Amino acid sequence: MLKIAVSGSSGRMGNRIIALSQESEELTLSGALEHKGHGDEGKDIGEVIGIGKIGVIVSSDIQDVTADADVIIDFSSPSGTIHALKLISDKPVPFVIGTTGFSKDEIEYIRLYAQKTPCVFAPNMSVGVNILLKVLDDIARVTGDDYDVEIVEAHHRLKKDAPSGTAMKMAQVLAAALGRNLDDTAVFERHGLIGERTKKEIGIQTIRAGDIVGEHTVLFGGLGERIEITHKASSRDTFARGALRAALWLRKQTPGLYDMQDVLGLK
Ligand code: NAD
Repeated sequence: MLKIAVSGSSGRMGNRIIALSQESEELTLSGALEHKGHGDEGKDIGEVIGIGKIGVIVSSDIQDVTADADVIIDFSSPSGTIHALKLISDKPVPFVIGTTGFSKDEIEYIRLYAQKTPCVFAPNMSVGVNILLKVLDDIARVTGDDYDVEIVEAHHRLKKDAPSGTAMKMAQVLAAALGRNLDDTAVFERHGLIGERTKKEIGIQTIRAGDIVGEHTVLFGGLGERIEITHKASSRDTFARGALRAALWLRKQTPGLYDMQDVLGLK
């Protein structure tokens, strides 16, 4: 039985991961982490998420929460993730990191941490999006510079980072397949007299509205035709199930930084 602790336990994703972990015969919940001063500290997480007492108390003490865990599943905030990794770096525990919005330095810190223990780090844990990443690579290699590439993403009004981590991952996959440097070619907004589209730009546009769980469309625009591929998440459970799958997969891995393509055997 794999013991998991969830960081960001009172959040939208934390709630679903905890609820689904209760249905699993392979996993058990050993800890629930929230930031210091959170209103749920000291409460039973089962009661917090409305499934009744499960005997796991929400705590802000990372050492306490991780002491008994085989894997931490983290859907918190970039500063929360890095803070937790730093506090346990001398006694590293495998991490599944679903949090998005990290800076380059923070990603470098995650890389260093993962040299000591296996970690999965993926901006999107759904099976569908990860299959899509593979397909995007295939398409871009064939269409090359003859087709304009645009990414449009839409999420709920409460999402804090933009563009989504998934859109950025898609952009990285496309840039790599097209032999481009994303820093030089990404275009995040257009306004005013912008002139003609340059051949190598990769457009990445953001929509924020209502309760959209997560939608991504990649458009390859050629002369006389276009390809549009869309993924729509209709429930957060798709990400939560992916995170639990990643946690189970991690227990057999050696130290290193993995992504969902590794977990799903898509590489
Ligand atoms: P949310 O705001 O509902 O939940 C985040 C939770 O983390 C909150 O309860 C907050 O109190 C807690 N938190 C903040 N700082 C913390 C700290 N230092 N220690 C412990 N807990 C802390 O957000 P959400 O919708 O659940 O999303 C969380 C993150 O996961 C975001 O970065 C989001 O973009 C990302 N996300 C990733 C995927 C994926 O598949 N990888 C899917 C959905 C969301």
